[in-house]
Parts: sequence; structure tokens; C-alpha cells
Amino acid sequence: MTTALVIGAGVAGPVLAMALQRAGIDAEMFEGQLTGADELGSFLTLQVNGMDALRAIGADGAVRGLGFPTRSMRFFSGTGKELGTMTMGEPLPDGTVSHLVRRADLYAALRDEAASRGASITYGKRLVDAVSSGGRVRATFDDGTAAEGDLLIGCDGIRSRVRSVIDPAAPRARYVPVLNIGGLVPDFPLDTPDDEFQMMFGRRCFFGWSATPDGGVAWFANPPRPDEPAPGELAAMTDGDWRSWLLDLLSVDRSPAARIVEAAPAPLSGWATHDVPTVPTWHRDRMIIIGDAAHATSPAAGQGASMALEDAVVLARCLRDVAGPDHADVARAFAVFERLRRERVEKVVAAGARGSGQKAAGPVARVFRDALMPIMLRRMSSRGGVSPEWLHRHHIDWDERVPAA
Ligand SMILES: Cc1cc2nc3c(=O)[nH]c(=O)nc-3n(C[C@H](O)[C@H](O)[C@H](O)COP(=O)(O)OP(=O)(O)OC[C@H]3O[C@@H](n4cnc5c(N)ncnc54)[C@H](O)[C@@H]3O)c2cc1C
Repeated sequence: MTTALVIGAGVAGPVLAMALQRAGIDAEMFEGQLTGADELGSFLTLQVNGMDALRAIGADGAVRGLGFPTRSMRFFSGTGKELGTMTMGEPLPDGTVSHLVRRADLYAALRDEAASRGASITYGKRLVDAVSSGGRVRATFDDGTAAEGDLLIGCDGIRSRVRSVIDPAAPRARYVPVLNIGGLVPDFPLDTPDDEFQMMFGRRCFFGWSATPDGGVAWFANPPRPDEPAPGELAAMTDGDWRSWLLDLLSVDRSPAARIVEAAPAPLSGWATHDVPTVPTWHRDRMIIIGDAAHATSPAAGQGASMALEDAVVLARCLRDVAGPDHADVARAFAVFERLRRERVEKVVAAGARGSGQKAAGPVARVFRDALMPIMLRRMSSRGGVSPEWLHRHHIDWDERVPAA
């Protein structure tokens, strides 16, 4: 049986392992961390197109109970003026809508589902190098051990090691000029509709909040920061540093933001935002990268996890249908995968970068943005839907054959 070495067990890795299994390929997953839980990153949005990808391999049930539904985003300016509403995509035919989930819960659920289907995950294996020769790939890890397989797939995230093994000149992650911080405040009643994420383009800071079904509020803030923080700088900031900075930034706006930050449980701790706009080389020989390793978007797009899920399922279909007997022609399958995916994912990364730019707008750009956004959202609405159809209506049919040409 063909064996794939899957590097990284975040979002893409476990789903890829499940999809490969369905495609008749054995997957061995190697995760650099010692344990599964990744507590960094608070919430992320699992959008309908990501749910559709999971449904293609019958894994949507594993995440359905996580988090809570979010159907739309309502935007405000810092003066409290409503700028417009945007849906998070039409529900799938079975009624599934986008969900806001804790990043750590999503990781755990996907890993558990993959493990329950017999996928092998070995923790504490950080890939340091890989060599492809004679139709095989040999991966080496930082503990001195090695593994061999027929192909290697890098699902190792935004700072991918596989990306630089494939192309030593590959671009690195690019700093996006906003920071990220967020969390959950229990018992914080808000008079906002269920299923709605409200977002404010504040005068000094972008802020988002959503009432949770149990009476709390999920929130995030994107304080602008033009230059990339030095290593260790953010980690050295205390809860008090973050809280007083955020309260200062948010105190000039008309919104519940400052009250939410005041009530947020300690410790507050933020992180820098990065993306990876264009990676020229996704594959070489019998190695390929997918997910954030190939195309990381800033969180403004809310699509990082969903794109990784789509990638995983589409790649498995390409290997099943295009690589030929015994999956010998992986190069051809990789080329078809890239043709199917590159334009779409890079469009998402570009949209995410624009979104982050709007969040960090200066005083003049802010005036234009606040004037134009209602018109833009109204125009999208009059076309029958306010979410980009090309993004959310993406459907993967597992049984449909991928054409080789
Ligand atoms: C710190 C952080 C916070 C984030 N917060 C948010 C958020 O709040 N909202 C949002 O929408 N998106 C967020 N994202 C983005 C979102 O999580 C990603 O878009 C999505 O997880 C991409 O999935 P992936 O599988 O490609 O990469 P990841 O989910 O990042 O998974 C990569 C996995 O590979 C492992 N790994 C890395 N290097 C190696 C190696 N050399 N050897 C073996 N294993 C390795 C990592 O430990 C990790 O488990 C965040 C990302 C990061 C890194």
C-alpha cells in the first residue's frame, strides 16, 4: 500500500490523513508538539465551505457540536454608525451554517476523529529535513529518528519547514500590521441577535464581539502595530499592559468593547499576525505543501482553517484519480492539485490582507472606508447575497472524478 508521511497534525493534517485513507493511501502523521492541545489563537471561524469539505469525507459530525453558529457579520464605525451586514455564506443543503470554534477544540476534535478512524499520529516529532529519491521520501526529525514513505505532505503551518525543504528560496511569513488578542467573557449579557458577529472599525482599534449561547461573549481586538514586534516583546507584556493599552484604544468609541475588555478574565495575551501571500513552488519530486504552509491568510479573512480543510480533501481526490496505478505518478496529481487550488487560495489571502489593511486605516482612509462600505455592502446585497459566492459556495463531491487534464 502507498504510504504518505504527513507532517503536522493541526487542521489540515488529520483531515488529510482521513481523506487519504478513503483514497486507499496509508497516512503516518508526525506532529512536532509533544501533546495535542494548542491553546494559542482563541477562536476561529469554520466557514460553510470548510464544513462542506469535512462533509465530503463524513467528518463534519466531529465538529458540529463545537462552538456556536455565526450566520452574519454586522459592521459599525467607532461613532456607532451602522455600516452594513454581510452573511457568512448561505447554509449548506442540510442547514449547516458557519461556526465560531475555539482553535484548541477544533484541533482536538479533528485529531480524535482521525485517530478513531485508525490514523497514526506520533507526537514530539519535529521534521528537520526530507530527501526524495528513487520514488521514496525519507524524513528526519529533531530527535534523530527517521521515517520513510512514498510521498511527503507538509501540513506544518505558516512557518513550514517542508516549504523550505522543497524550495530553500521560498518566501517566509509576512508581518501584517495588526496584532491579535481575544477570548471569552462568561456571563456578559448583550442585547445582540443570536448568530451575529458584530464588528467595529474603531477610531484606534478594530474590535469584534458575539454573544455566546450560554450568556457570555466571545471577543477579539486587532490593535494596529505598523512594525513587527521584536522576538519576545509581546510575550513580555503583562495582563495589565494589554488591558490598559486596549482600554485606551477603545475608550474613544461608542461600543461595548471597553466594557468587554474590562470584564475579560486575566491573563490577556496577544500575538502578531502574519500571512504568506504567494509561494511559487508548492511541490518538488514526491513532496508537497498544503494549508498555511502553502498560503497562509491573515485572520481577517476568517478562512485559514476552511482553506486548509478544502486543500486536504482536494489533494486526496487528486492522488486517488490522477496519480495512476499504485499512486506512482504523484507529480501529475500534485500539478492538478495546484491548478485546482492556487487561484482560489491566493484570492482569499489577498482579501485577508485587504481586510487587515482596512482595520489599520489612518484618519483619511477611515473617512473613505466608512463612507464607501455601506454602499458596497448594499450593492452586494442587491445582487441577492452579501457573501462572496465564489468563496462560500465551493462544493467538494468526494465521488466525482478529478479529470487529469
Ligand atoms: C498561533 C496561531 C494563532 C491563530 N489564530 C487564529 C484565529 O484566532 N483565527 C483564525 O481564523 N485563524 C487563526 N490561525 C490560523 C489558523 O489556525 C490556520 O489557518 C489553520 O490552522 C491552518 O491549518 P494548517 O493545518 O495548515 O496549519 P496549523 O493548524 O497551524 O497546523 C500546523 C501543525 O504543524 C505542526 N508543525 C509545525 N512545524 C512542524 C515540523 N517541523 N514538524 C512537525 N510538525 C510541525 C504544528 O505544531 C501544528 O500542529 C492561527 C494560527 C496560528 C499559528
